[in-house]
Formats: sequence, C-alpha cells, structure tokens
Amino acid sequence: MELRVGLGHDTHRLEPGGPLRLGGIDIDFDAHLAGHSDADVLLHAITDAVLGAAGLGDIGEMFPDTDPANRGRDSSQMLLAAYVQVQRHRWSLVNLDCVVLAERPKLLPHRQRIRQHLADLLSIHTECIGLKGKTGESTGDIGQGRIIQAQCVCLLQR
Ligand code: MG
Repeated sequence: MELRVGLGHDTHRLEPGGPLRLGGIDIDFDAHLAGHSDADVLLHAITDAVLGAAGLGDIGEMFPDTDPANRGRDSSQMLLAAYVQVQRHRWSLVNLDCVVLAERPKLLPHRQRIRQHLADLLSIHTECIGLKGKTGESTGDIGQGRIIQAQCVCLLQR
C-alpha cells in the first residue's frame, strides 16, 4: 500500500452581509467571504490538500479565477471534481484534519453539519474528518475579523 499526505491552506476576506458559506453549508452570520467563486475557504483548503497529496496540482490550476465559468462557483462541486480526478489515479481518502481560524462565528455549533456534508460529499465516515475552530485572540487580521483562514492535512492511500 502507498500512502501520501497533502497540505492545504487558504485565506478569504470577510465583507458585510450574510450568510456565511463555510464547509459547504450556509451559516446565519452578519458577514460573508469574498472571492471569485463562493469563497468557501475551508473547502478550498481541503481541495488543495487532496490535489497536493495526489501530485495533481492545485485548485487555482484546476479552476482559474480568470475563467468566468468559475464565478460564484459552488466549492462543493469543485472539491468533488478534484476528488474524482484523485480517484482516477486510484487514490482514496483515509482522513482529513482541518483548522478554521476565525474570530467569529464560533465553529462548534456548526461543526457536525459541516462534517456530515463533507462525509456525504466524499463518501467517507464522519470519524475520518477532523474539524477544529481557533480564534486569533483578538490579534491580527483574523482576530480583528477581517479574514478567515483554513488549513487542512489529508492522507491518501492506494
Ligand atoms: Mg480560495
């Protein structure tokens, strides 16, 4: 059996007006993430981790922000398309572990729904999806609520 690890990281700016799309679900909140696609920072980090582990480039290469077709694109569909490519190379996901860095909102009340969405999307058990929220302790762009960042590591096997 072969194993590969992958690492993903992403940042998006917060702008006034909800809801907040995060991890493929819409959270009732007073701000949203700005970007060319739906700006789902968590799904972008996961997509990059999975593509990186398989040596298949990155999300920007697969879905260029210069392509009008990607405007407002649903990041769940982007992650699924990336994972289909990964599976074509005979890789399957063992587990994901993710961190969302956000001062607000609290992740905990939404964690189970996000994990379930990811489990359904990627056809893996929720036990295989780690998800943690961290604040910026009121410091920097995260702590001042200007941005949200996400990190993900994943393990693939074939
Ligand atoms: Mg992004």
